[in-house]
Amino acid sequence: MIELEGLTKRYGEKVAVNNLSFAVRPGMVTGFLGPNGAGKSTTMRMILGLDRPTAGDVRIDGTHYDRLKDPLTYIGALLDAKAVHGGRSAFNHLLCLAQSNGIPRARVHEVLDTVGLTPVARKKAKGFSLGMGQRLGIAGALLGDPRILMFDEPVNGLDPEGIHWIRTLMKSLAAQGRTVFVSSHLMSEMALTADHLVVIGQGRLLADTSMADFIQRNSRAYVRVRTPQPEQLSDVLAAAGITVVRTGDGAFEVDGGKAEHIGELAARHQVVLHELSPQQASLEEAFMRLTAESVEYHAHSGSGATGGDAPAARSWGEGWKGEG
Ligand code: ADP
Ligand code: MG
Repeated sequence: MIELEGLTKRYGEKVAVNNLSFAVRPGMVTGFLGPNGAGKSTTMRMILGLDRPTAGDVRIDGTHYDRLKDPLTYIGALLDAKAVHGGRSAFNHLLCLAQSNGIPRARVHEVLDTVGLTPVARKKAKGFSLGMGQRLGIAGALLGDPRILMFDEPVNGLDPEGIHWIRTLMKSLAAQGRTVFVSSHLMSEMALTADHLVVIGQGRLLADTSMADFIQRNSRAYVRVRTPQPEQLSDVLAAAGITVVRTGDGAFEVDGGKAEHIGELAARHQVVLHELSPQQASLEEAFMRLTAESVEYHAHSGSGATGGDAPAARSWGEGWKGEG
C-alpha cells in the first residue's frame, strides 16, 4: 500500500503537487491520470524519495522510502525518461542493481525471462529499441520481487504489441495481490487497464474512484435529433414527458429516451426529422470535463477565449500534448 497525506511540492512559485491525499491499495491496478504537467511524475518521484516534499507525507507499507531496508524488495519502479547505462549489457545492468540491493544473481535470469530479453541479455542496452529499453526498465522494477510496483507512463511511444504486453503484465501483477500504480495522460489507456482511478489536474486531486463507478457515472447515453421544426418537436417531446437539451448547432440532445420512441412520436405528429442517432458520451469527454479547469490556463493564454465547452475542449488538446 502507498499512502499520501497532504503531499505538496513547490518549485519556486509553481505548485507542482498540491495537497494530495489518497491511498493505492494492493490487488488491483490503480491508474494515475492527468494531463501533461499535472504533477504525476513529481508525485511518483516523491514516493520514491527522489524529490523531497515541500509539505505532507508519503509512506510505503507504513514506512518512508528512505527507511526501507533493501527498498527494491518493497517497491519497484519504472520512471519516465529513465537512464540506463547504455554501455552495459542488459544482464550487467541488472546484475549491478541486484548486487547493490542484496538480490541473488539467479533472479537476474528470472526477470530477463519474464520480460522476454533473455536472447539479447548480453547485448549493450544502447542498441535497444524503445520497447526493449522499456522491458529492461521493467525487469529492474521486478528484480526485488516487490509487493508494490509503480510505472510512469509505461506505454508512451510503444508499438501495439509492446502496449498489449505491458497491460497484460500489470494485470497479472495485480492478480498476484501486488499493488500496481501506473500513470498515463490517456483516459482510453486507463479504461483498459485500471480497476481504480486517481485523477489529478494542476497538482490537485480531482477524483479517486473505482473505474466501474467512473464509467457508470460518466458514460451518458442520449439521442441526437435534428429537425427543421424544432418548436413542434419540443412540444411533442415535452408532452410525452421527455426533456430535451438544445445544442449550439440547432440539434437536440434527448437524455434517457429511446431513438425508436422519439422517431414514432415525431411520425405520429408529422414532424420531419433530419437526424435521429443514439450517442454515447465517451470517457475521454468525461475526463476532459473533469480536467477542463486545470487546462483553462492554456486556452486563455493569448487566445482571448471566454470559456464554455468548445474552448475548454480545444485547450485540452493543447494541454495534453503541451509541456512535458
Ligand atoms: P506530469 O508528470 O503529470 O506531466 P510533472 O510532475 O512532470 O507532471 O510536472 C508538474 C509540474 O511541475 C509541471 O508544471 C512541471 O513543469 C513542473 N516541474 C516538474 N519538475 C520540475 C523541476 N525540477 N523544476 C521546476 N518545475 C518542475
Ligand atoms: Mg510525467
